[in-house]
Amino acid sequence: MQLVRGFAPALLLGVPLLALSSCRRPPFEPAPGANVIMICLDSVRPDHLGCYGYSRDTSPRLDRIAAEGLRFEQAVTNATWTLPSILTLFTSTYPAAHGRDNYDKEYNREHPLPADAPVLPRFLAEKGWRTAGFGHGGWTSQAFGFDRWFDYWEEGPRFEIDQMVPRCLEWIDTHRDRPFFIYIHTLSPHFPYRPQGTYRAKFGIDEEKYVPPEDPERVWLPLLDQAKAGKIGERLLAQIVRQYDGGIAFTDEWIGKLADGLRERGLDRNTLLVVFADHGEQFLEHGLLFHGANAFEETARVPLIMAGPGIQPGTLWTRQFELVDFLPTLFDYLALPLPERKIQGISLLSRKSNDRSWALTGDSLSRVQALRRLPWKYVDDRMNGRVELYNLAQDPGEKKSVAAENPGRVKKLGELLERRERENAAFGAFLAQTGTGKRELPAGVFDQLKALGYVQ
Ligand SMILES: [Zn+2]
Repeated sequence: MQLVRGFAPALLLGVPLLALSSCRRPPFEPAPGANVIMICLDSVRPDHLGCYGYSRDTSPRLDRIAAEGLRFEQAVTNATWTLPSILTLFTSTYPAAHGRDNYDKEYNREHPLPADAPVLPRFLAEKGWRTAGFGHGGWTSQAFGFDRWFDYWEEGPRFEIDQMVPRCLEWIDTHRDRPFFIYIHTLSPHFPYRPQGTYRAKFGIDEEKYVPPEDPERVWLPLLDQAKAGKIGERLLAQIVRQYDGGIAFTDEWIGKLADGLRERGLDRNTLLVVFADHGEQFLEHGLLFHGANAFEETARVPLIMAGPGIQPGTLWTRQFELVDFLPTLFDYLALPLPERKIQGISLLSRKSNDRSWALTGDSLSRVQALRRLPWKYVDDRMNGRVELYNLAQDPGEKKSVAAENPGRVKKLGELLERRERENAAFGAFLAQTGTGKRELPAGVFDQLKALGYVQ
């Protein structure tokens, strides 16, 4: 089994490290009882969105939502591919603690998180929220337990965002008598990039050179080999990036329609909209395409935007923020007590959050773990036996490791990473005492994952 890797950097990530002043004022007032809609834009990197400084017009609707809400400048995923990233968000535990952090299909088949796992939708259901989820198949599917954590779950391999949003609004119309929590996981921007017709024209996609998405194995996966061999030229890369951008723009249109739908129903006043990504995407910055397999900034950084009651328009959160911290932050927003002894995350409203100057990210299958302590990023590449250190303020593209010049810092950050890893393993052992449950994977799921290029 092998990871799909990913493509090229039109832009470097331009991390605004100088803006890392600590934000002392809370970025929101609590909004008890608010509805919550979370949308995961699978594989969308922040620097391809207008509100994060992208030059192309990929996200006019999301930009407006960001302008009306709170935008996280330095949000980091704790894993650079879908399953561990989302389960970290749902459980507020690190990948090494929840343990679903590798592509081992046997393991994942036999050990999905159980139906009674302490996950975000179940926590909220216990507090009175109605819950619904809309998934695209792949890693966020019934196969991995997602259907069992919601009152209502709907999924399908071709369930694109233009179908999800109308279904979501229909569900809201019949379930709005109580607060609701909705999770939407869309693969519309994900490889194989498939912008709809109007966006193909808008993004200048040459129809003759259009890389068709219909047969990923035949067309897209060989691109990985070409990438590794250094045989993807600038023009092909530019075409691929335009297709990716077109997919983002298509998704953005439907995020806008969802926001419109909420407004038409008078629900915008008491609904928190959260838009984020589970990881970024690579465009040959480090010779690879797609995501997973490493911990570089192009996959580690994610967009995160929250808009709703209690949030002042145009709020910017400049401190580093890990996805593991989202659940307790949301609970503080909803003025709910935190689940005790079940989570590792720290709300950004917590005083402890001031001590959280580091973020963990990486990919356990390729045995790459990174500790991001700005402006430094320490990377332990265990597969290749390499330790790297980058100064992201001076080298945001992570082009040249300065580990050799900074032995003291390398030693200190290495020890900190190891300490965090030991804590995560211990927390995982604690969680395992509650049992992991077993459930067979339905037939066809791995064919889907294969079609998406995750397994071979
Ligand atoms: Zn993903």
